[in-house]
Amino acid sequence: MRTLFVFRQDIRIDDNVWLYYAIQESRDIVPVFILDETILAQFPPHDKRLDFLQQSLEQLDRQLRQCGSYLHVYYGKSKELYPQLVKKYQCDAIYRNKSYGIGSLTRDSHMRQWCRSNDVLYKEWNDFLLVEPDEIKPYKMYTPFSKKWLQLAKEKYAHYEPKVITQIQSPAFVHHNQEAFAHLDKWIMTHWQINGRKDMLEQFDYESYHETRNTPSIAWTSTLSPYIRMGLVSIRKIYQTVRNKAKKSRELSWYETFIKELGRREFWHHVAFHFPETRQEEFLAKRRYIQRENNEERLHKRSTGMTGYPLVDAGMRQLRQENWMHNRVRMVVASFLCKDMIMDWRHGMKEFERYLLDHDSNVNLGSWQWSASVGADPKPLRIFNPLLQSKRFDPECLYIKKYIPELSHVDPRCIHDPLNNDLWYASPILDHYLWSKKAKQRYYESQSHYQSSHH
Ligand SMILES: Cc1cc2nc3c(=O)[nH]c(=O)nc-3n(C[C@H](O)[C@H](O)[C@H](O)COP(=O)(O)OP(=O)(O)OC[C@H]3O[C@@H](n4cnc5c(N)ncnc54)[C@H](O)[C@@H]3O)c2cc1C
Repeated sequence: MRTLFVFRQDIRIDDNVWLYYAIQESRDIVPVFILDETILAQFPPHDKRLDFLQQSLEQLDRQLRQCGSYLHVYYGKSKELYPQLVKKYQCDAIYRNKSYGIGSLTRDSHMRQWCRSNDVLYKEWNDFLLVEPDEIKPYKMYTPFSKKWLQLAKEKYAHYEPKVITQIQSPAFVHHNQEAFAHLDKWIMTHWQINGRKDMLEQFDYESYHETRNTPSIAWTSTLSPYIRMGLVSIRKIYQTVRNKAKKSRELSWYETFIKELGRREFWHHVAFHFPETRQEEFLAKRRYIQRENNEERLHKRSTGMTGYPLVDAGMRQLRQENWMHNRVRMVVASFLCKDMIMDWRHGMKEFERYLLDHDSNVNLGSWQWSASVGADPKPLRIFNPLLQSKRFDPECLYIKKYIPELSHVDPRCIHDPLNNDLWYASPILDHYLWSKKAKQRYYESQSHYQSSHH
């Protein structure tokens, strides 16, 4: 059997589930990545994330070459390219790993149907999550989900890295990938190293994570998210590395904090899968009637890091500079948009989609709805105070000063209190204390509206 193996969010050969099976079950393999023009059209001009993608594919090509194979990169519409490639390489089968993104589900069903009607074997499997969304019955709350998830995650094992991959050789191939890459409208990505996480996975201090993860200036979370998103590291390898370390330690609970965050990522995939309506509207029906503000000027100030609230501004600047933001600060900027500015959470979600290198549509959707208190796993209405958050999590203003150099010589006490100190770079666009009261009122009104219209 000759198999067209299609890489997606699994850009590696190590512990790649269906690549592993394709090698076992096929005589030879044609490894392919498709730069889908419909998806690429959604990227803004000169996007640095496309450089990261290209580097990832070049690295994958190098890995394949060490096994006697190489990567074929094509540019075009996936729908049209698959039939052409199957014909061109005379393949009997298409193998690939599943993707759970919003657009992937429709694209996948199209391919499945095409294979069925053209007598081509089609196989796909989950590689992206430890536990598939439908392995667990639908849960709306994270805690009961995570108990079940933890049990199932323990049963997942990594697959061997292949040493030899047999494939047909095509002499005309050499310049082909560069032609496909020429379609990427990108700028060079300097902040993220393509192979930067390999050592990190072993060396990361999982034991201190529960203490350090909330301090953005220490930058001591794993920063694995972009690598997980592209599949440069396998989620099973991460899980196993952490578990092996945990077995050697007496403080199991410290490792559990990290593992539970992996579970939270999967919870948002679980919610999007079992409650697909949340892709369109708020998970909580009672929060679908919040009267929101529509203020373009404030929105622009927030996007460009000029709200006058230093921790919020530092976060938004980190997002633009590094295509990433620390989780604590993501929560602060999200709360500020939804509950101080009383704006629609969708503005924030789209902006994260526009910049985040780790952007994952299901995780982003779930996290934004959760931060706006309109999503699954609801907590009592909580409004972050951006002033107290900066005092507590960035007391010396090390994080703030890194991204707002205008404040480098300002006393942290003034930085934490912009309502009573002139910080020059920007004055506060609103008074947190007044606006958070207004937000509470609007949330309660939405609830009353819902209750009266459903009686
Ligand atoms: C409003 C908002 C939007 C977000 N959008 C995304 C997104 O598009 N893509 C994304 O990967 N993460 C998103 N997150 C979750 C989280 O902020 C990032 O996963 C985390 O900051 C990545 O940094 P890290 O790899 O150093 O995480 P670590 O703290 O080292 O955690 C290890 C891994 O666990 C997972 N993880 C950690 N925290 C969370 C969390 N709160 N929710 C879900 N998974 C988590 C990630 O896969 C992460 O790489 C969002 C959070 C918020 C509040």
